[in-house]
Amino acid sequence: MTDRPSTTPEIAWRNEPLLFERSRPGRVGVMLPPSGVEERPLDELIPAELRRGDLEELPELSEVDVIRHFTRISRKNYAIDLGLYPLGSCTMKHNPRINEEVVRYPGLSQIHPYQPEETVQGCLELMWHLERVLVELTGMQRVSLHPSAGAQGELAGVLMIRKALEARGENRRYLLIPDSAHGTNPASAYMAGFQVKELVSNDRGTIDLEEVVREMSDEVAGAMITVPNTLGVFEDQIVEIADMLHEKGAFLYCDGANFNAYVGKARPGQMGVDVLHMNLHKTFTTPHGGGGPGAGPVAASHRLADHLPGSLVERAEDGTFRLRTPSDSIGRLRSFSSQFGILTRALCYILSMGGRGLAQVAENAVLNANYLRKALEGTYHLAHETPSLHEVVFSDRTLADTGVTTLDVAKRLMDYGFHPPTIYFPLIVHGALMIEPTETEGKEELDAFVAAMKAIAREARESPELVREAPHETPVRRCDEARAARQPVLRWWPAEEEAAE
Ligand SMILES: *Cc1c(COP(=O)(O)O)cnc(C)c1O
Repeated sequence: MTDRPSTTPEIAWRNEPLLFERSRPGRVGVMLPPSGVEERPLDELIPAELRRGDLEELPELSEVDVIRHFTRISRKNYAIDLGLYPLGSCTMKHNPRINEEVVRYPGLSQIHPYQPEETVQGCLELMWHLERVLVELTGMQRVSLHPSAGAQGELAGVLMIRKALEARGENRRYLLIPDSAHGTNPASAYMAGFQVKELVSNDRGTIDLEEVVREMSDEVAGAMITVPNTLGVFEDQIVEIADMLHEKGAFLYCDGANFNAYVGKARPGQMGVDVLHMNLHKTFTTPHGGGGPGAGPVAASHRLADHLPGSLVERAEDGTFRLRTPSDSIGRLRSFSSQFGILTRALCYILSMGGRGLAQVAENAVLNANYLRKALEGTYHLAHETPSLHEVVFSDRTLADTGVTTLDVAKRLMDYGFHPPTIYFPLIVHGALMIEPTETEGKEELDAFVAAMKAIAREARESPELVREAPHETPVRRCDEARAARQPVLRWWPAEEEAAE
């Protein structure tokens, strides 16, 4: 476990200590000039009971200590700015730097949510404009920019369905969710108080209409479907499904986190969708992953618009903008209006792409996924024959006789300098490798990835141990996955462990 990678030279900072260990008493980052203000007892300024007593644990460091620490750690990591990051369903695409420039404009970054509305008219207009664009792209009636993530948008959406049913005096218990849905869907349904009825996908990887008929009843509040689903397949009977639900007074929720597969090409509002969330941080670019930040606006048809969460921006007759809560809103899911920085990036991206550019995003995302599909279909087992949209799902079936599994392939890819794809998801594909290249990758990067995947398949036959013990070139070698999750040790090569071994 303590073996160092053999191909990298021994370097001083390999064992980067924690900031707490680097701490030296009295060391500071900033030297302040003597204060010109008369000293007053602290008790006069902050009552003792509101003060934290003990600050001894905080590390004492210089600026260069801190900068080097984080830069060193970042160099042990992988990032979208280093190369392909084909994590299926996550849409790790390039994030244009113009967004970062715009979001830092003082008028946008130095505001406070408690400022009076008349002092932030430009920001409200930005939100109003973004809603107009999202309405245009989705064909829905209104969009609330309130939710902070895709999963929070889902929760908002199913709570809106609940609210609409309550307004009709109905208390329906079930949501229909296909087994190809994103994992957050059943979690959101459950959090909103629904029970889940699972729809088993057919062998095309799509929803089986007969399953819907079988599970349909007066107790069904609606269905939650992911489009395209986690197999990267478009639910081509979505209109029929919507009709069946509406006939029974139920609602259709669409998980639009992967809207990048058809943005500018088709509108969920015209497919009969009642409520939809989008992930601005995926489709409309923001650096994401590792826990945030995000924004998951939720869009509603006329059936559910009154229940949207948070506040919407309205434009008054005199051209001023103000925040207004929808008439029968489900309420707030977070403090203040929304994740404003992400909204700014999304609008900047949308305006810099333009309508035609956004349609091209979808076209190229689908083209790139199908390029990988064609290039790898002889080497890895293709989960479904149905055409792929923005991502393609393979499995490790062709490697079964070598003892090499999906996990090994993913680990070995790191040695070739690529982030692994999403693995073992969707659950309905045994040993799934779910690859989403996104539209921002050029042919050279895709070809290099294909070459690596093919090389690994060859290695699996010729020297399976090499693959099974990968990675060999990364700062950390193969971990005990279960133990890493249950007893996370965040220290670099822990000294106690080394002593124990
Ligand atoms: C990413 C994703 C989500 C969850 O979005 P978060 O912003 O991570 O909460 C939900 N559904 C699908 C299909 C996704 O790809």
